[in-house]
Amino acid sequence: MSAKQKCLVCNETADSLHFGALSCRACAAFFRRNIASKKQFRNSCERKCSIDMPHLRKLCQVCRFEKCLAVGMKETSVLSRVSYSKALTSTEEKYTFLNKLIQFYDKIENSRDEVFQRKKEYSEKFKL
Ligand SMILES: [Zn+2]
Ligand SMILES: [Zn+2]
Repeated sequence: MSAKQKCLVCNETADSLHFGALSCRACAAFFRRNIASKKQFRNSCERKCSIDMPHLRKLCQVCRFEKCLAVGMKETSVLSRVSYSKALTSTEEKYTFLNKLIQFYDKIENSRDEVFQRKKEYSEKFKL
């Protein structure tokens, strides 16, 4: 009943569906990386490499990628995530704005300190 689900690519323990296929995080990350970077593989293999063991999956990127596609991983579901990471870039811009606010706040803090300092000098001068 509670048999562990296996990555369809490399037989590692799978954590969930990734891009439409049951796989482990490593294979999901591998697939996403290669889609995102539009990597071109050197076609140096016969596409018959055995990568169905976790320790074998790193041996051939071509076959691993082909297998990702074969087990049902979808390029399109990666691309929708890529646009999501573009959305994160604009969050970074917001973050820059936030940094400016923080700097501005620092200035306010500094000038407040100055005021306190002057107040202190003033009270010392007039022995208040
Ligand atoms: Zn895997
Ligand atoms: Zn291969």
